[in-house]
Amino acid sequence: MPINTDSEWRMCHDPLELIECLNDKLTDGERLLILTAYTRPVWTHPTMVGIGVNVAMDRLERAAYGELNRTVFAGTAAVIKGIRDEIGEARIRHSIEGMSVQLCHEVAQWVAHGTGFNEVMEIASDLLRRLVLFRPSVRPSRPMMPNEIPWEIFVHLEGGIDGRPSIWKETFTNCRRLLADTIREIIASPYVMIRLEPGWLDEDMVHGAFTMFQSSNFEGIERLGERLEDRGCGDSDILLHCTAERHHRGCWLIDEITAMRQRLRNTKL
Ligand SMILES: [Zn+2]
Repeated sequence: MPINTDSEWRMCHDPLELIECLNDKLTDGERLLILTAYTRPVWTHPTMVGIGVNVAMDRLERAAYGELNRTVFAGTAAVIKGIRDEIGEARIRHSIEGMSVQLCHEVAQWVAHGTGFNEVMEIASDLLRRLVLFRPSVRPSRPMMPNEIPWEIFVHLEGGIDGRPSIWKETFTNCRRLLADTIREIIASPYVMIRLEPGWLDEDMVHGAFTMFQSSNFEGIERLGERLEDRGCGDSDILLHCTAERHHRGCWLIDEITAMRQRLRNTKL
């Protein structure tokens, strides 16, 4: 169902529908951050940290803000391709580790060549579907988020979602909702006008937001919301966003406070 209003934007649980609603408004940098945030449960996994994929993906995120030049871009894409080649064709398709590296490779290739954003989004959604449909040797006792699913429990790729136990359908629904929330983390509702009044912020708050951006650690955002409210901010979109559970580099609010969003909009990949 196409999205036409702010409440439809907020309630939508289908990440691809959100993208469709935004498509012609997205800049290159925003597209890249949606992809890195979308695939984050995969590339921040300890296995990916161990083989260096996370460092490469972190560089791609910085590139979205124009912090890296084309040479570093190309080098980063080559590093991920090297890791992919080392894993080998057979393991790429039949292991969680392989599929995850393949996904990061697709993102890096998109950056290197700048085409087929929707295709990469679809590959990411498909990978997610396959991760969820891997039959676990131990049945979970409750529906999980994709980043909670222990990799070692996945054994064989099974068929479609029909006929799966309901717990897997619920897990799949959770995954889609999580990804839709990820898009809303990077892009504010296109149906409302967000305006930060200069009086709501002091130097400490801007500095704190910049530290969150640099470190990719957003634990302080709730406190930031409290301070904004103390200083007279009554914007419910801003205050509510500060209470959201997950934030990533590319958080629209942090980017607005630090003025990094302007850089992001100007980045041409
Ligand atoms: Zn955020």
